[in-house]
Amino acid sequence: MQPVGFEFTGFNRELLAQLVEKIKETLKGYEFESFLVGCTFEDYLSEEAKTMLKKKFQPLLVKRLEKELKAKADFKNPDVQILVNFNQDLIFFLVRSVYITGRYKKYIALPQTKHYCFKCKGKGCEYCNYKGVLSEESVEELIAKHATQAFDAPQAKLHGAGREDIDVRMLGPGREFVLEIIEPKKRNADLKKLEKEINEAEKGKIEVIGLKYCAKERIAELKAKKSDKVYLARVECTEEVSGKELEKLIGTYAVEQRTPLRVLRRRADIVRKKRVRILEAKKKGKLIELKIRAESGLYVKEFISGDEGRTKPSVSELLNAGCRCKQLDVVDIID
Ligand SMILES: [Zn+2]
Repeated sequence: MQPVGFEFTGFNRELLAQLVEKIKETLKGYEFESFLVGCTFEDYLSEEAKTMLKKKFQPLLVKRLEKELKAKADFKNPDVQILVNFNQDLIFFLVRSVYITGRYKKYIALPQTKHYCFKCKGKGCEYCNYKGVLSEESVEELIAKHATQAFDAPQAKLHGAGREDIDVRMLGPGREFVLEIIEPKKRNADLKKLEKEINEAEKGKIEVIGLKYCAKERIAELKAKKSDKVYLARVECTEEVSGKELEKLIGTYAVEQRTPLRVLRRRADIVRKKRVRILEAKKKGKLIELKIRAESGLYVKEFISGDEGRTKPSVSELLNAGCRCKQLDVVDIID
């Protein structure tokens, strides 16, 4: 929200009325139950003026605002923060975000959040057709577009419990996320209705499950979570693979994986040690289908291909053939 100017007339009744009026006017249309108001002032104010401001004026302002805004002063977790800045004669506003959590499923190739062009980093260039982004849609945008309407907010940001590659489908129970709704005018929307609306409008692309309100702290909890995932991989092989060879694949592997070549541009080259279990291996026409349970952070496509020897062992190495993942789905997340 833009700051609003005021005219300092001394700590008097006029100033009080002026501030209350400007604050009321600016917050018109916003739903809130609690607020916090603070004052910052010039260092050269006299001790007397400072005492006046702190001991008399500010408590009076709080009292008047409680009455006029029909909201409670709250120091801990206010819906709105108001800062009266006597250095600049400006009033600043901060509306607390609303957080909702749930799970999403993804049925098509789609990035989780806005996929900025790596060449121009969002500025727009020939490569991205001057759009700045490489994909028009993302899970974030498909959810946010409905949520921002429901909460009358300018924008919303998605925080996921990890993320899958663009071309990996997210099935099974879905991936947990928090949607942060920024500067909302409404703080209470019918989440059942919102969920239904998203699922109807985005049918075939994404689905959301179990939307509910949560605290901001939920984001950190999700980020710290390390869940094993079960994948279904359809794999193409350069050699004919027998049923017996496939059967031998089933088992547990201690995989050492160097940062894949395809992400080396953005990530440090380190070795990750991950536990991997191949649960099932069977033929599916010309392809083979593998059910793999992997520790959080394994690059599954590279576990299959071997990534030019950077992942050991790999399905390619175990089958003594060139293997490539054609389709990858997350089918379960083990909490
Ligand atoms: Zn570009």
